Amino acid sequence: MRASAIKPTPDVVCADCGAVMPDGKTTCKELFEEVLVRNYSDYQYARTHRLMVDAYSLQHPDVHMRSGKSFAAHLTGLCAALEYEDSAVINQAVQRWLDGARTLDKPARLPEHRGDLTIAYIHRAADAEEHHNRVREWARSIWDAWFEHHDLARQWIDAAMRGF
Ligand SMILES: [Zn+2]
Repeated sequence: MRASAIKPTPDVVCADCGAVMPDGKTTCKELFEEVLVRNYSDYQYARTHRLMVDAYSLQHPDVHMRSGKSFAAHLTGLCAALEYEDSAVINQAVQRWLDGARTLDKPARLPEHRGDLTIAYIHRAADAEEHHNRVREWARSIWDAWFEHHDLARQWIDAAMRGF
């Protein structure tokens, strides 16, 4: 059998993240919403909530990163969580920075491949500890896939921290 013959049909693939599951994109969104409910209803899951939202957004930019500002918030959020010591301070600075009249342009080109892991991997975590480990692993694979935008994220963080 040729490789192309066993490719999943589009209706079982989420076109944004590549997750293969029944009803593709719809199921992907449902799994994300179920994990969000888990985050909100059990404090043990709260620690990586922001990271999870940023990671999912970077895999689904057409839905979650429509404006230049939402793009900047999620891109810098993931960068801060993975590369900096105090991501909460950075996220607050970026939020203040974005609250102004600033306009930011989204880059014209986004990565087509956005990491090897998907929300299905997060959804299957057995407990909070496994959830946190998986969120970090998933976020790391997404961040690696966005390598062309690392410098942009660091520049925006730098500008936000200096208040420019
Ligand atoms: Zn998806």
